[in-house]
Amino acid sequence: MTKYIVVLGTLLSGLGKGLITSSIARILKWYNVNVMPFKFDGYLNYDCGTMNPYRHGEVFVLDDGSEVDMDFGNYERFLNINMNKDFSLTGGKLFKDIIEKERRGEFLGEDVQVIPHLVNEILAKIKNISNKYNLDVLVIEVGGTVGDLENSYFIEAMRHLALEEKVIFFVVTYLPKLRVVGEQKTKPAQLAIKALMQMGIRPDFIVTRSEEEIEPNIKKKLALFSNVKDDHIIDDHDLDTIYAIPLHFMEQGLDNLLLNELDIKGEINNEELKKWQERVERLRNAKKRVSIAIVGKYTKLHDSYASLIEAIHHAEAELGIIVDIKWVESEELEINNDRVKELLNGIHGIIVPGGFGKRGIEGMINAIEFARTNKIPYLGLCLGLQLMSIEYARNVCNLEGANSTEFDPNTKYKVVDLLPEQLNVIYKGGTMRLGLWDSKLKINTKAYESYKKEIIQERHRHRYEVNNEYREILENNGLIISGTTLDNKLVEFIEWSNSFGIATQAHPELKSRFLEPSPLFVSFIKEAAKQASIL
Ligand code: GLN
Repeated sequence: MTKYIVVLGTLLSGLGKGLITSSIARILKWYNVNVMPFKFDGYLNYDCGTMNPYRHGEVFVLDDGSEVDMDFGNYERFLNINMNKDFSLTGGKLFKDIIEKERRGEFLGEDVQVIPHLVNEILAKIKNISNKYNLDVLVIEVGGTVGDLENSYFIEAMRHLALEEKVIFFVVTYLPKLRVVGEQKTKPAQLAIKALMQMGIRPDFIVTRSEEEIEPNIKKKLALFSNVKDDHIIDDHDLDTIYAIPLHFMEQGLDNLLLNELDIKGEINNEELKKWQERVERLRNAKKRVSIAIVGKYTKLHDSYASLIEAIHHAEAELGIIVDIKWVESEELEINNDRVKELLNGIHGIIVPGGFGKRGIEGMINAIEFARTNKIPYLGLCLGLQLMSIEYARNVCNLEGANSTEFDPNTKYKVVDLLPEQLNVIYKGGTMRLGLWDSKLKINTKAYESYKKEIIQERHRHRYEVNNEYREILENNGLIISGTTLDNKLVEFIEWSNSFGIATQAHPELKSRFLEPSPLFVSFIKEAAKQASIL
């Protein structure tokens, strides 16, 4: 029988519920428990595919091509697993399914209501997944916070679930500390927990987010007012690395408390735990530093680049090198050459990540030209590959004004263009080239040296491709096409021949894991370290 853990948020978003969910699942997995996370989001979008990364944060892509919430990135990175669409539910998907059922006549004669129909639909979905994957534990993260209209019926469903199955409720809350008062305050948390109790749910554990560790007297006070035991209040103050969170929880005894409450006899896998601890230590002890510029258009909201940042952290932990990220808004690089030099001065490596739309494109191209002509290591991701080929076409192959039809539909040299099958696509959701694709790498290239094998898999999310008509001229002028799809029809990897510059049409950051960093990021950071003369 599957047991359940439900993680609810209170007071404000951005407390890191996803990391807490990931950490709880991580701990159970160290005890060889068959555990998976599951996420409900209350919005009415069917999935995250059409959301703006500048508002909602990164759109994460799974192997099966589903476009999901960025928390899935944390689940996969912490658990070192590949998830699929079964584990993501949105308000939109739920309503679509229930309305389709109604149209098929499955509720004939009834008036379809939140209780029981919608709630039953939620319970059926959750139990189906538990059975399908034969889970010991499903950790359900509820998006948003208690009190939101959007998730209220889902929380109600969780109350019903607890009537039928073993459910442990975790409530994440925040302890503010005003500088002038100098003490952590529990009143907001108390009120939020009261609101939850009015909904019929009593928390089993309270996770407190704060800047500094929770003070013992504050823990006692919160425990008393919220009806939980002292040791069931789990401190989650700001740590130097998110990968230390599960370890910090275990130091507080959460592993044994959880196993007891779930009535599961798990044996710890010390070897796996040790691998994790060693990496956290390497990250903490790293002293050597490199500076990397990320040149993009969403640089003011770092959540838009969540996986990219984590992939860099994974390479840091692998190499024991600290990366100082300099965020460069690409439009700034369009002002003039002096500004480019000023902003990229002293940088040991440049990354152009994924992106959509025309804004800031020329600035990114300027950054790539700067990297190529000054032999600064370059890493291009998706859009970063398209722009690397455009820069090369313009400045090395002399195809003046070369562009992608995404940015200039009338360009004379369509070096990057839509695939014919994309021309008639009207629906925006789920219609890009999405999910896991095989690439074949050329031997003796930087791509091959990085991955150390010929056939590799990475996730994709894009509509445009390098135009095959320009492959010959690019290659004749020294650009190396180091990877293609297995049928050689699409360009997947390109590189410069005179210095370290590599780009992929894929998003390798999406498959980078704390224990298994992306090979491409490791090669790139190593090159940057050479550039900084620390390796
Ligand atoms: N806008 C480009 C395309 O659709 C690149 C997408 C991306 O970087 N993910 O092909």
